[in-house]
Amino acid sequence: MQPATQAWGFAAVRLAGTVVLGVAVGWLLHNPWGGLAIALILHLGWMLAQLFRTEWWLRHRSYADPPEIGGVWGEIIAQIVRLHRRKRFHKQRFVQLMRQLQRSTAALPDGVVILNAQREIVWFNRMAARLLNLRRTADLGLRIENLLREPQFVRYLARGDYANPVVVHQSSGTDTWLSLQVAPYGDGQLLLLVSDVSRQMRLEAVRRDFVANASHELRSPLTVISGYLETLAQEPGLDPQLQGPLSEMRRQAERMTAIIHDLLELSRLEDTDEAVTAAPIDVAALLALLRKDVLARPLHPHEVRVRLDSTARLLGDEPEIHSAFSNLVDNAAKYTPPEGSLEMRWWVDEDGGHFSVTDTGMGIPPEHIPRLTERFYRVDPGRSRATGGSGLGLAIVKHVLQRHGGRLQVQSVLGAGSTFTCHFPPERIEAAPLTQAVRFS
Ligand code: ADP
Repeated sequence: MQPATQAWGFAAVRLAGTVVLGVAVGWLLHNPWGGLAIALILHLGWMLAQLFRTEWWLRHRSYADPPEIGGVWGEIIAQIVRLHRRKRFHKQRFVQLMRQLQRSTAALPDGVVILNAQREIVWFNRMAARLLNLRRTADLGLRIENLLREPQFVRYLARGDYANPVVVHQSSGTDTWLSLQVAPYGDGQLLLLVSDVSRQMRLEAVRRDFVANASHELRSPLTVISGYLETLAQEPGLDPQLQGPLSEMRRQAERMTAIIHDLLELSRLEDTDEAVTAAPIDVAALLALLRKDVLARPLHPHEVRVRLDSTARLLGDEPEIHSAFSNLVDNAAKYTPPEGSLEMRWWVDEDGGHFSVTDTGMGIPPEHIPRLTERFYRVDPGRSRATGGSGLGLAIVKHVLQRHGGRLQVQSVLGAGSTFTCHFPPERIEAAPLTQAVRFS
């Protein structure tokens, strides 16, 4: 039999015995009801005394031993002791686990900050405190934007797109670069991962400076060489046998000049990380100009169309946008045969502004598309060199678009043609008074 069932059995027997005894004694004294009442009062008093002892022990449980009570009350006390022991065991395990977690996160080489749905700091590890200058208790509960006010980070947090980290420069105190990445979890909570990328950024700056300086140093001797080659080519008494090699030398010198021009342009784009200006650009006029440039090429697709589905102006840096668009249009003209066609299109919708260049040229095999914007990446190196390409055009386009908050999309079918589309966010579009489709070809 279970101890609890046994205890209830005893309790029932005790109550029955008390009733019988009370009635019997009362009957002997000619008052059975009085005897019963007194017996029940005594039983109740005894029960209350047990209850009092149990309650007193519960209050002083931390230093008093459980009272030695049998029966149902003893059973209840035994159950409480068991529950208490189990709770203490789980609590100890939880504390141990927490300590281990704290020790392991403290040993992490990166900073970790836990933010609640209101972006208030809930917890952070030692590295986060060091990198972000957070104070252990004072900064808990404060909003992260109030402590980390770098505009790029505030914008990154507001945007809600946490696929990539944001790199911020902290010039106050030490000159450090921090990479900040947010990982959402749970019910709107955010995990902020912080790492010091100063070393990588310095190495990157050294690399950039080297490329910029080397390109700059090469420019002057190349100008001299090109000048002499030009003069030599115009020499009336030039040996006809030398004309072929001379024109090849001039072509190669032009290619080198184009590469150096593009390298310098790329370093300039990489050098300035502040947001670009937002001057209104007349896209219609720009596309008309680009169309004229294509038609001025000795070899160009016979049909060059411009389709304007909007007169809205683009807000950005005119020379940079001109350079990006002309690189795309140049490529389309270069890689499309004269019997093919080329179309430039500008349109605006709720997602922002879009500029696309579609050609009916050779197309690009799908495996090359993801790597097109890498520097010097060419699908067909021989062909690209023959057309005078520097291999840097699409890298420039990607940088310009990034600086304008935009992105490049490439669609292509091998042998049928390609479409390169620049997508700009809505804040880069100035609303136009009238929208009408304009087409000239
Ligand atoms: P390049 O100066 O060699 O044209 P880009 O960076 O502008 O360098 O382009 C990279 C490569 O992408 C090119 O070498 C070419 O193979 C391919 N490409 C770019 N645009 C087109 C296009 N419209 N049609 C086919 N291939 C293209």
